Amino acid sequence: MSSFGSALHEFLPRLIEQANFDISRSACVVVPSFENLIAALIDAKAGNVQVQPVLKVLSNLDANQPEPLAVLELSEFTEAWPARSKKQMATLAVILKRFAASVVAMGGVERVQEMSAEAVKEAWIQISGLGLATVDQLLCVVGHPVLPIDRATYRILVRHGWISEDAGYEEAQDVILSAAPEDQATLAVLGDAFSKIGKRWCKASLANCLGCPLAPWLPDGGKPYGNSLDD
Ligand code: SF4
Repeated sequence: MSSFGSALHEFLPRLIEQANFDISRSACVVVPSFENLIAALIDAKAGNVQVQPVLKVLSNLDANQPEPLAVLELSEFTEAWPARSKKQMATLAVILKRFAASVVAMGGVERVQEMSAEAVKEAWIQISGLGLATVDQLLCVVGHPVLPIDRATYRILVRHGWISEDAGYEEAQDVILSAAPEDQATLAVLGDAFSKIGKRWCKASLANCLGCPLAPWLPDGGKPYGNSLDD
């Protein structure tokens, strides 16, 4: 089995070349703004939820000012997503309000951009409801060069034997960051590609390895997962 570093060296150019991966929508390449922070947070916490309604609520206030969001009544969020479960929306709204209050306390988005990644991470990880992956996605939005490890990326690393099943978040991240180029654009391509491969081929329930761009880098034997390979 090749190490992640040597495999990355081979597959990264291919992923970039193939890139029908739309990195323009990646959280890591958007213009830093409070609106984009909120969009990334909603996407991270509830990817199947429409972001637009809450952005519309924000735009009625001022999309780049966190203060109004921090003081919005919960009902204004649940009304923005009328077709969704009230409980799920209320939980999401509480997290959004906590996050907005934190950005206010830190002095606004521009001040957050000036702070070190470590200081911002330390503040945001204290917010109940935010995990390491979500915080990393938010750090991307404010321009810090990080690579969020979502569940799909973690799954791919495990299935290829690049990390063990009991590896923690930071260990998984270290495996990638110690081998990947340091520029944010490349990290964004890599993160986006892994995320999309995870959603399209490497699902939690089944790895459809046939046709997957990472199939040539399967561990020795090449049939670790997926009944599509057993046909
Ligand atoms: S080759 Fe198979 S195990 Fe590897 S990422 Fe693709 S679907 Fe997942």
